[in-house]
Amino acid sequence: MLPSHFGVGVWNNRLYIPVVPDPTSPFPVSPPRAWAEINLAHLRHNYHVASHHQHGDIMAVLKAGAYGHGLEKIATALENLPDDPAPIFLGVASVIEARRLAEIGIQTRIYLLGPTCPFEREEIVARRWTPCISSLDEAVSFNQQVASHHSGESPQKLPVHLTVDTGMGRGGFLPHELLREIDTLDQLDHLDIEGIGSHLPSADEDEHFTQKQFEQFDALVTALGSDRFQFRHLANSAGLLSYQSHCTNLYRPGLMLYGISPIKKFQHKLKPVLSLKSKVSLVRTLPAGHGISYGRDTVLKKETQVATIGIGYGDGYPRALSPDQTSVLIQGKRCPLLGRVTMDQIMVDVSTLPSCHSGDEVELFGSHILVSEIAQQANTIPWAVLTGITPRVTRIYCNE
Ligand SMILES: *Cc1c(COP(=O)(O)O)cnc(C)c1O
Repeated sequence: MLPSHFGVGVWNNRLYIPVVPDPTSPFPVSPPRAWAEINLAHLRHNYHVASHHQHGDIMAVLKAGAYGHGLEKIATALENLPDDPAPIFLGVASVIEARRLAEIGIQTRIYLLGPTCPFEREEIVARRWTPCISSLDEAVSFNQQVASHHSGESPQKLPVHLTVDTGMGRGGFLPHELLREIDTLDQLDHLDIEGIGSHLPSADEDEHFTQKQFEQFDALVTALGSDRFQFRHLANSAGLLSYQSHCTNLYRPGLMLYGISPIKKFQHKLKPVLSLKSKVSLVRTLPAGHGISYGRDTVLKKETQVATIGIGYGDGYPRALSPDQTSVLIQGKRCPLLGRVTMDQIMVDVSTLPSCHSGDEVELFGSHILVSEIAQQANTIPWAVLTGITPRVTRIYCNE
């Protein structure tokens, strides 16, 4: 684990520092004000939970920079698991994310989770990434692209998955369309249709609807002939954790790999990977009647020890957080937020913590305060808070 007070040497030694030290400068390079500690041992633990919860293979969902955890580092960790088989696919959102993985030599197959634009397909074919296909047009276009990429030689088929819209409304064949078009799809010589998938819009909210989706997916795959698809997949984290299917054999967890359960009752099985941290920069005693932060929504009722902390919405700590509900952790104790979150700083009440000093470490969320709790208080979801952590926040990896 990381020492609680970093010297510049420690940072130089193990960590990425966003500031290049200038040897001609007489001043030491200061560590960042806000950082995210990313515990890769916890990632491995969560992956183990995901891969043992159901029978089947894993597509690890790494879109949006691995939910803000750092695309390259998370992909590398998952490709080199000491105790579990590596994921079969890494799921990304875009060609840019796929390219970032290719550039560091990731060998695991890359799956593009959404529909692709025509101008992206040449690279997808050339690099043999796996697209999910939503329409006959898209399939025909890929088929032609494979033919022209290999002009002259006999083309190697491109493995592709079909995606079915069983209720998400974001992409995919409607089930009856797919039944009608499957014969035409089968005739596309340069495609190897190795998989079929669909997506769950409300697996953490609507059990009845989700159950129906599983049944519809199972029925469709059976009608098409389940043996023809090597990979059959429907479940995100919530689907993996709480639903059973007799036909699926590949799971697509995202959030749970990062240690957050979309369904509360499974949270105890997981370990949060990311802790958002900062430091106390100032502690002062302010008198009763003094206002705190923009808008002066908060006016102190009594004399209060106020700590200023070097993190704000410019780092991704949600501005929507309300002082009445939110607290931060200092010296293992919850200290309530005072006033509105500002761009670079927040204020908290440390009256119950007389030993609080400038330089004390602060956990905004992580193992003790779950990001789910913060998300709820900010009227949003943990996915959005994690992906909202901005580039200014230095990512620090432990237990690599
Ligand atoms: C994001 C995504 C997932 C992962 O969802 P989680 O809820 O984070 O587990 C799975 N499948 C698709 C198609 C996605 O877009």
